[in-house]
Amino acid sequence: MTTSRTVLVTGGNRGIGFAIASEFLAQGHRVAVTARSGEGPEGSLTVRADVTDAASIDQAFADVEAALGPVEVVVANAGITRDTLLLRMSEDEFTSVIDTNLTGAFRVVKRASKGMLKARFGRIVLISSVVGLYGSAGQVNYSASKAGLVGMARSLTRELGARNITTNVVAPGFIETDMTDQLPEAQQADYKKSIPLGRFASPGEVAKAVAWVAGDDAGYISGAVIPVDGGLGMGH
Ligand code: NDP
Repeated sequence: MTTSRTVLVTGGNRGIGFAIASEFLAQGHRVAVTARSGEGPEGSLTVRADVTDAASIDQAFADVEAALGPVEVVVANAGITRDTLLLRMSEDEFTSVIDTNLTGAFRVVKRASKGMLKARFGRIVLISSVVGLYGSAGQVNYSASKAGLVGMARSLTRELGARNITTNVVAPGFIETDMTDQLPEAQQADYKKSIPLGRFASPGEVAKAVAWVAGDDAGYISGAVIPVDGGLGMGH
């Protein structure tokens, strides 16, 4: 039987984060989500936080700790894209993506690690992307932020591993969410041709991998990059 944990998922009001929160709920955990707007799935606790603002993250953690107890599993999922080719990319388009996707994850795991170190238990999952290691034209900002999460997870593993805190990366390929809905249909069809499994995934397929790597069966796995990409990034 799975141990019931207190779980916090950032950006849990829609897309992959919502599916991850739903999966943890289905497995019997106590689940909170951060959201700037909207709500997490029924049965979860929604707290307001913007990952670009450390004070709001601190308040969100305090609210979750008061309601559900110390956070034992944290999933840094909140992320944005600002796609454009290098020569058109403004410095703001670059730094805003880094600030949300990479520095945002840093702020969240730094706050989470306080309780985890005290408890000598923790499960950290960072949501990266296949393009972090594969690369993607028009996503210099986004892929750099997602590659950075791999270095972060591996350094966290070395720093926190001896305290029974694991850190892993889940790297989705193309998942059916608002993020990929924005892509023109012709581009979606092109991408599908390059994916060995020939389709995009549902958010729930990512959620299953996240729940597994944060669960009892994966206690000796840390610093790993787990692809959920239909074979797109093989070897990367
Ligand atoms: P969505 O665009 O559907 O949702 C993004 C989530 O992140 C929303 O909950 C959003 O909140 C939240 N968010 C964005 N910025 C902030 C912020 N500053 N503070 C707090 N929350 C924020 O994206 P997906 O569900 O598709 O993506 C989730 C994660 O998965 C991202 O990290 C993404 O990079 C990654 N990913 C997605 C893939 C895909 O194909 N969809 C592929 C690979 C990786 P709000 O609703 O308030 O905007």
